[in-house]
Amino acid sequence: MNTLSKKVVATTFDVSRVRQDFPALDQDVNGYSLVYFDNGATSQKPLSVIQAISAFYTGYNANIHRGVHHLSQLATNAYEEARQAVADWINAPKATEVIFTSGTTAGINLVAQSWGRHYLKPGDEIVLSAMEHHGNIVPWQMVCQEKGAKLRIIPMNDQGELILEEAEKIIGSRTRMLALSHVSNALGTINPVAEIIAMARKQGALVLLDGAQAVPHFRIDVQQLDCDFYAFSAHKMLGSTGTGVLWAKEQLLNELPPWQGGGDMIESVSFEKTTYNVAPFRFEAGTPHIAGALALHAAINYYRALNQHELEAHEASLLQYASQCLLSIPGLRIIGNARHKVPVISFVLEGLHPYDVGFILDKYGIAVRTGHHCAQPVMDFFKIPGTIRASLAFYNTTAEIERLKEVLLIAKRMLS
Ligand code: PMP
Repeated sequence: MNTLSKKVVATTFDVSRVRQDFPALDQDVNGYSLVYFDNGATSQKPLSVIQAISAFYTGYNANIHRGVHHLSQLATNAYEEARQAVADWINAPKATEVIFTSGTTAGINLVAQSWGRHYLKPGDEIVLSAMEHHGNIVPWQMVCQEKGAKLRIIPMNDQGELILEEAEKIIGSRTRMLALSHVSNALGTINPVAEIIAMARKQGALVLLDGAQAVPHFRIDVQQLDCDFYAFSAHKMLGSTGTGVLWAKEQLLNELPPWQGGGDMIESVSFEKTTYNVAPFRFEAGTPHIAGALALHAAINYYRALNQHELEAHEASLLQYASQCLLSIPGLRIIGNARHKVPVISFVLEGLHPYDVGFILDKYGIAVRTGHHCAQPVMDFFKIPGTIRASLAFYNTTAEIERLKEVLLIAKRMLS
């Protein structure tokens, strides 16, 4: 054990046992054991999730809601049970407040198009933060352009933390919506959402949280958060791609007009007039990703079987270990040093382009992401073209972090 690992608090999380549940982790890439540090982009999937998808397609594949036949009823029941499981997982008061979407992006677009187009007026303001993912910038920009509303941005400091005194000044009587990332994908910062939501509430503004990077790491309680909308993607929390959730308060859902029209979202249709189904169905036009919802249910069950307290302690120790390990590399600078972070480490190496470093890491079987991480304003703020991002999950290990350090030193020698 080296000196670094001595300082890290030992945790009881049984990572080697957990890794056995993830078949994709057990493979060689370019002749080396895979080190998967691209969890911020998408997580790997446990066998139980893969089996849930397979069980649907091999056993009871059918379209939902409209069929009287046996398979359709099984599929409908499983889909609605998944909705209930999501509601329980995020402590939503009712399952009917859970809308299945194709991901965080779709959830935010739904709110921007349904609520924004209906309610925004010229001069109204939408408040975002300086560390938003493009998925929580562009949908608002589009609706603001159409409605003559304005974006206001809460700035951050050099540590990658939002400046609360500035937030207080920016959130005002014109603010209609605060749309904020719960956790930054580019920096790993856990934002102080309670404080900022309280500011929005004082002004009577609605609140949407982008939970894409929060749900893989800690438990969400939408009632305790006191937000109005919470959007996340299943694929970042062990589920499949193409599935996400938008949770919204019941009263809002009942008031909001539908966004997309089509099958399943209607009550009756004639060429003269269409009346709409109740929420959440009127926000789920067309055939949804049924297998994706079932996979999310399995992912939730997988998380439930883990000890959340131990998981969080393990992730915290990984973050601490990785930060110490990487900072011992000369010329390495971590971008984003917030006091509260998930195990995401964005960094640059002096004189080297992130892409070149990522390319060499891949040659040694290490998967990281390089570039702007769909957060170009963050890169502009730090005056860098991009970062190398190692985003860790609970199934990662300190040995993998040591491997990253070793290969970064090789990359430095090769590229310098
Ligand atoms: N917001 C954040 C903070 C994200 O990290 C991501 C995914 N990188 C998104 C939104 C968009 O998620 P998706 O592509 O799954 O819709």
